[in-house]
Amino acid sequence: MPGRVEIRNIKKAYGSFLALDDVSLDIAPGEFLTLLGPSGSGKTTLLNVLAGFVRPDSGSITIDGAEFLLLPPHKRNLGMVFQNYALFPHMSVRRNVGYPLRLRGVSGAELDRRVEEALGLVQMAHLADRGVNALSGGQRQRVALARAIVFEPSILLMDEPLSALDKKLREHMQLELKRLHDRLGTTTVYVTHDQREALTLSDRIAVVNGGKIVQLGTPDEIYDRPKNKFVADFIGETRFLPVETSTSGALLYGRPLRTRDDWKDGDSDKPWLVIRPERLRWKGDETETANRIEAEATDVIYQGDSYLITVRMPDGIELDLRRGPDLGGKDLPERGQPIQLWLDREHTILVADKS
Ligand code: ATP
Repeated sequence: MPGRVEIRNIKKAYGSFLALDDVSLDIAPGEFLTLLGPSGSGKTTLLNVLAGFVRPDSGSITIDGAEFLLLPPHKRNLGMVFQNYALFPHMSVRRNVGYPLRLRGVSGAELDRRVEEALGLVQMAHLADRGVNALSGGQRQRVALARAIVFEPSILLMDEPLSALDKKLREHMQLELKRLHDRLGTTTVYVTHDQREALTLSDRIAVVNGGKIVQLGTPDEIYDRPKNKFVADFIGETRFLPVETSTSGALLYGRPLRTRDDWKDGDSDKPWLVIRPERLRWKGDETETANRIEAEATDVIYQGDSYLITVRMPDGIELDLRRGPDLGGKDLPERGQPIQLWLDREHTILVADKS
């Protein structure tokens, strides 16, 4: 299967500012890989290097073993979708989608058949003859997608393609993109700063910060095993609690803290406990002192689909927790009451202070 990408030691500076700092990355054929990071982290620069719009200062990229950086953009056989659609406004849907095929010398019945097929894949066949100016945002993005896949590129590059859409449509389009990718199996490099979108869509996520890939892994690895404080903070609703280290191990508010095996004591004197609020258990063995937190419920608020419960830790740090409505109000703490929480060892993640 074609579409293997090997990115090696790519550097790109703008003046003295390093936008890409020695980036290396292998993308498997058919993989959906997302570059996720905050604004200015270098995601678009890396995508633009792949697209051929930005020339790196050093490094190499091969696709299916062939050197890629020397090829001009039009020879790269890449499909591209951007946030702002970049459709030709004076052309119909059909002509927009047929454009890359005409550019490649495809015409007649073959052109019609492939355009029809691509429009069918994005559920736009019924609007083929409409002008693109008379389409909604979601429909335009479907046309842009059809235009990007119609010539069966070996790689699909997408830069925040859904960010102009409202939340509901964006979530719907995420599922459509995922289905389309499952069906076509085109190697895809996707840029977003939306962590939930990245978790939803990707086979693997490369978390980018300061021009570097700071962690590369599957969505569950990134979520459950963040390598450092930046990744833990960027993904999910995360809070950090201060941990003391002693000769007998880690302590949280003076109680022993059993951590997952892969935390090496001595990695940091002052590590942080990464708390994902949904991982906290409400019920535990009262005799179990390890990984127990004695907190106080400061607010209990009914919000229809769930209860929002604010708890205050012994040092005053507050966390927001959610409980499903299934309890019908039973078993909930009252305001001002003490509450005991437990964290399973497998979800007890420590990260170093620096990083
Ligand atoms: P965003 O999510 O905001 O698009 P990003 O992660 O895609 O951010 P890039 O667009 O890759 O970030 O930019 C990375 C850094 O390089 C930014 O600090 C940006 O200001 C800088 N940069 C990008 N292009 C240029 C340029 N042509 N000249 C100078 N600096 C640039």
